[in-house]
Amino acid sequence: MNENQAKKRIDELVDTLNKYSYEYYVLDNPSISDYDYDMMNNELKRLEEEYPELLRDDSPTQRVGGEAVSIFEKVPHAVQMASLQDVFSLSEVEKFCSRIKSEFPDAQFVAEPKIDGLSVSLEYQNGIFVRGSTRGDGFVGEDVTLNLKTIFSIPLKLKEPIPFLEVRGEVYMPVSVFEKLVKKQQENGEQPFKNPRNAAAGSLRQKDSKIAAKRKLDIFCFNVQQCEGKEFSSHFETLEYLKYQGFKTIPGYVKTDSSDDILKKIEDTGKNRFSLSYDIDGVVIKVDSLSQRELLGSTTKTPKWAVAYKFPPEEKTSKLTKIEVNVGRTGVITPVAVFEPVFLAGTSVSRATLHNQDLIDEKGVNIGDIITVRKAGDIIPEVVNVSEKRSEGSYKLPDECPVCGTKTVREEGESAVRCPNVDCPAQIYRSIVHFASKPAMNIDGLGPAIVDSLIDSGLITSVADLYTIKFDDLLRLEKFKEKSANNLLYSIEKSKGNTLDRLVFALGIRNIGSAAAKLLCERFGSLEEIMNAEIEEICAIDGFGEIMAKNVYDFLREPHSVALINRLVSYGVNTVYKKTRVDQRFEGKTFVLTGTLPTLKRSEAKEIIESFGGKASGSVSKKTDYVLAGDEAGSKLSKAQELGIPVISEDEFLEMTR
Ligand code: NAD
Repeated sequence: MNENQAKKRIDELVDTLNKYSYEYYVLDNPSISDYDYDMMNNELKRLEEEYPELLRDDSPTQRVGGEAVSIFEKVPHAVQMASLQDVFSLSEVEKFCSRIKSEFPDAQFVAEPKIDGLSVSLEYQNGIFVRGSTRGDGFVGEDVTLNLKTIFSIPLKLKEPIPFLEVRGEVYMPVSVFEKLVKKQQENGEQPFKNPRNAAAGSLRQKDSKIAAKRKLDIFCFNVQQCEGKEFSSHFETLEYLKYQGFKTIPGYVKTDSSDDILKKIEDTGKNRFSLSYDIDGVVIKVDSLSQRELLGSTTKTPKWAVAYKFPPEEKTSKLTKIEVNVGRTGVITPVAVFEPVFLAGTSVSRATLHNQDLIDEKGVNIGDIITVRKAGDIIPEVVNVSEKRSEGSYKLPDECPVCGTKTVREEGESAVRCPNVDCPAQIYRSIVHFASKPAMNIDGLGPAIVDSLIDSGLITSVADLYTIKFDDLLRLEKFKEKSANNLLYSIEKSKGNTLDRLVFALGIRNIGSAAAKLLCERFGSLEEIMNAEIEEICAIDGFGEIMAKNVYDFLREPHSVALINRLVSYGVNTVYKKTRVDQRFEGKTFVLTGTLPTLKRSEAKEIIESFGGKASGSVSKKTDYVLAGDEAGSKLSKAQELGIPVISEDEFLEMTR
C-alpha cells in the first residue's frame, strides 16, 4: 500500500468508525458487531502507526467512548475514566505479562472478567452517595445520579463512612431482563435494543428515572478512583474493601504472578461465559501493586498497567440443509439459511437470515455447503462464510414468487428482490397480521392462526374485509364459539375508534413505523390531508428523509391503496387525528352499567360507549337513557324498572354498535 492508498483507507475507516461510534454511544443502536468494529479499529491503528503523519484529529483511536449528551448536567472527572488497551490473542497477553515482569520481576496480576456494560463513577461524601456519572469521553461525563439510585445494589450509604470515596463500576442489564425487554419492544412495534450493553446505556440515559427503574439494571464495581481516609497498596485490597463497604464486585477475579494461570483463567472464563446471567466480553489483566501502576503510567487513552483480552465471537460449523424463501408484508423476498442445529452463545441455533442475493453471492453459499455461523454481538445468528464448499456456485433466489408465482422484480439501486403482486396471498396474510397487531390496530384475538383460517374460509381477502365479518360467518368456522365470535367482533369494532397514527402504521407503508406514522398525523391532522400532501411537504417533517416521503406519497396514490382506504372510511374507521371516532351515535346518551356482562368487562363497555360519544354514569336517574344489565344486577336494575328506563342486554348493546 502506498501513502495515497493509505490515506484513502484511513479516511474511509475514520469516517465509517465515527459513524458506528455515534450509533453505538449516542443512539445506543449499533449497526455492526463489536467484533467487526474492533477489527476495523485495529486496521486503523496499524495504518496510523505505519503512517503517523496521516493521523487525523478526529480519529476514533484518539478518543475514549462518546461525548456527554446535553440533556444531563456535565460532570468533570477528577480522575480520568480511561479505556483499556484491547488484545485479541493469547500471545499478546503473554507479551504484556513479560513486559511487566521485565520491569517488575515480583509483579502480581489480577485477572477479572470484563463486564460488557457501561462505565460509571459513584461518589460518596462522608459515606453518603452524592453523585453518579457516566464515563462520557473519559474526562467529562453525564450526571445520572437519579437513574443510578434506582439500582438496588448501589449502596446509598457506606457501611463505614469515610470523608470521600469515588468508585468505578460497570452498569449492565441482566440477560433475562434484556430478553423480556426486547420481547416487549417488539410487541409494541418499537425498535428493540441490539444487545444488553446498548439496552443498559439507553436505560441509564433516560430522562425519566421511573423508566430507568423499570429496566432493572445492575452494577459490578471494580475500581477505587479516589479515596480520602483510607490507604491501599494493591488493587486486590481495594476490591476486598469495596466488598466490605457493601458494593457488588465482579465474581471470579483471581490474583496470581503466573502468566500460565492467567491464560487458564481466560480459557475457563471463555468456556463459562454463556452460562452467566450477564454478558462479559473478555478478561482484564491488571498489575496488582498500586505503586508499580504509578511507575508504569498511562497513555492519553489507556493505562500501561492493564490489558483487556477480548473473546472472539464463538463460531461453529454446520451443514446448510435448506434455504427458505419468505415473502414479507411489502413483498420483499428474504432468503433464510436453515442448517443443522449448533449450540452458540448459550442457545441452540439452526436459522440465520441471508438478507439478499448480493450477500449470498458475496459469500458464495449454496445448499449442502458447510458454513461457519456465529452470533453477531452474541445475539443474532449470522453466516460468516463457507468453510467447505460442497456444492456448485451460489444459490439463486427464484425468479418467481414462491407463493403466487408472479415474476419477481429488483428495483434499481435496491438490494431487495420483491414480489410485485399486491394480491399475493403471502403479502395479504402478512399485511392482515400486521394490521391487527398490537402496535397497529390492536385487534385482540386476531392472531396469525385466526387470520389464516379467515383467509382459508374465504371470509377475507384484504384488511377492509375484516369490517364486514358477521357473527354468523364466524360461527360457521371451527375455531369460533359464541363468546369468541362476539369478542372478535367487539375488538374489530373497537379498532374503528383507534387514533389515526395506528391506522397509518397499520397500512404497512414501507419504512413507516409507529413513530413516523405519528409524525405524519401530527403534521397533517387527517388521513385526507396526508393523502393530499406533496412529497416536499412530507419530506420537510423532522425525522423524514426523501425515501420515506416518496414511499408515503407513492403508496397513497396507488389505486389499490386508495380503494382500500375508501373502503375503510366507508366502514367508519377513524381517519382524523386525536378524534377517537367519526361515528358519534351515542352523543347525548347516558348509560348505566350493572351486573356481570357475559363477555365484556365493564371498562370495555364503558370504552365503547365513550368512543361513540356517549356517557357512562354510576347511578340511575331520570336522565339515564339505557341500563346495560348483566347477571346478578342489583338495585340499579330495579330502579331502572321503576323509572321505566330501557334495560338492555350485552347482545342488544353490541347490536346498537354495529
Ligand atoms: P472496551 O470495551 O474495550 O473496554 C474498556 C471498558 O471496559 C472500561 O471503560 C470499563 O468500563 C469496562 N470494564 C468492564 N469490566 C472491567 C474490569 N473488570 N476492569 C476494568 N474495566 C472493565 O472499551 P470501551 O472504550 O468501553 O468501548 C470500546 C468498545 O466499544 C470497542 O472495542 C467496541 O467493541 C465497542 N464499540 C462498538 C461499536 C459498534 O458499532 N458495534 C462502536 C463503537 C464501539
